[in-house]
Amino acid sequence: MTTSVTPVTREQIISGLTDLLGPGKINTDEQELREASVDRFKKYTAVHDIFDGPIPAAIVTPVSAQEVSAVLAYANAHRINVVPRTGRTATEGGLETVVENSVVLDGSAMTAIVAVDPVNMMVTAQCGVPLQLLEDTLRARGLTTGHSPQSKPLAQMGGLVATRSIGQFSTLYGGIEDMVIGLEAVFPDGTISRIKNVPRRAAGPDIRHIVIGNEGALCFITEVTVKTFRYQPENNRFFGFLVDDFAAAVEGLRTLITDGYRPSVCRVYSPEDAKQHFAHFYRQKNVVVLVAEGPKGIADATGEGIETVFAQVPHEAVDPRLIEEWFNNLNWGQDKMDAEKRAMLDTQHLGYTTEVSIDWSRVSELFDAVMHRIRTDFPRAADLTMLGAHSSHSYQTGTNLYFVYDYAINCEPREEITEYHIPLNAIIVEEALRLNGSMVHHHGIGKYRTPWTREEHGTAYHLLETLKNGFDPNGIMNAGTIFPLDD
Ligand SMILES: Cc1cc2nc3c(=O)[nH]c(=O)nc-3n(C[C@H](O)[C@H](O)[C@H](O)COP(=O)(O)OP(=O)(O)OC[C@H]3O[C@@H](n4cnc5c(N)ncnc54)[C@H](O)[C@@H]3O)c2cc1C
Repeated sequence: MTTSVTPVTREQIISGLTDLLGPGKINTDEQELREASVDRFKKYTAVHDIFDGPIPAAIVTPVSAQEVSAVLAYANAHRINVVPRTGRTATEGGLETVVENSVVLDGSAMTAIVAVDPVNMMVTAQCGVPLQLLEDTLRARGLTTGHSPQSKPLAQMGGLVATRSIGQFSTLYGGIEDMVIGLEAVFPDGTISRIKNVPRRAAGPDIRHIVIGNEGALCFITEVTVKTFRYQPENNRFFGFLVDDFAAAVEGLRTLITDGYRPSVCRVYSPEDAKQHFAHFYRQKNVVVLVAEGPKGIADATGEGIETVFAQVPHEAVDPRLIEEWFNNLNWGQDKMDAEKRAMLDTQHLGYTTEVSIDWSRVSELFDAVMHRIRTDFPRAADLTMLGAHSSHSYQTGTNLYFVYDYAINCEPREEITEYHIPLNAIIVEEALRLNGSMVHHHGIGKYRTPWTREEHGTAYHLLETLKNGFDPNGIMNAGTIFPLDD
């Protein structure tokens, strides 16, 4: 039960935070506050300098867990909404400040790589360490985290753990939840908790999973320890196949995985999606992309397994050098972000994605259902310039489908979200839930899939709600994220 407290004004918040951390760590620049009120879900309005939602009171940049603790305890005492952030690549509204006078708690100044431990194969980094920097540091020592999301040049360790992110080599190394050994997080009452680094334990439920994926709605992550692996790219083997039928290509992936092979990269692109990546060789077909890696013997054996399995799937082989070249250019840094902004302004056209997961037996049914519903039910279907999907992360029991859609915007910039993105997102989410899949594979719920959080979890929603009530009884952590605002 929450007790009522006297609301503090914007000015009081700024002065209270300044007293705690000093003026150098409190940013009240008007334009930066405006830009901090949204994330990439509203990239089209943002590029038009439209920021209609509540503008935060301040952006606070702590440099230690103790400072994070002081800010959270202050916010908790005064019922101030706190929106954590690090790399700012969120795509689902997780960074939106939907409550008046929110405080953005920015961990990007916590940039220490605390310890590299090559004997026990782990590395500890503060929340603001960019993954690219961590990877470059490790690779110089012959190691890798194995984590490679497309946003690697920009995303930082806190956000990557907070969203349950996943990378391109996930079939071998897993998602971030398979990599985190231990971590440090700060809770709304100011408690700093360190989950220690051990190889495994049976000391009750795995409490790492309360923090991993919390999207800033339960706590603020200040430090993480993740596994490291040997970096041996010299053994990598690349494969590309053009396949006529999407279902046949997916069946090839299913056979490979369930036969026990673990290629690091394991993907199939529908022809529409393939066109934007492989225009020069896709020949209007589905494109399968696979990479075998690891110690030479394992990479070679995985490569042989790939050849054996795909010998049973009618295909044309692609020159492996084309696949390797494509990989080297796949990630998104600031240059691509800037180019996208220019293109949105020049062409009134953009692309978004919605990613879900599903059992092997229903992949094609989900793919067909989404394609059909969007083409027939979406009122602005005529504005779509591309609609496709790929499977990019596979498991023993199923895979993900990452739907991609581009459209020309024939409305006022302000209406783009409600006219296009929200209804398209809804169709994909509804179809995934209808077929017993998950409505979100790796981007997080953010603020725009919250209408379906209860349906996603069913009777298990009780567990999620109890965590929120227990850790954040005053509801100060990232209001409207994971849990609908009106709950
Ligand atoms: C071009 C592009 C490609 C992408 N590719 C991938 C991909 O391949 N795989 C993938 O999984 N995702 C991908 N994403 C999504 C995004 O990069 C990930 O969700 C990433 O993990 C976000 O990290 P960040 O540091 O940018 O976090 P932010 O954007 O700063 O925050 C993301 C969420 O986490 C919360 N948060 C941030 N820091 C903390 C903290 N210290 N403690 C508690 N909560 C916190 C925020 O409140 C927000 O809800 C992509 C995004 C873009 C723009």
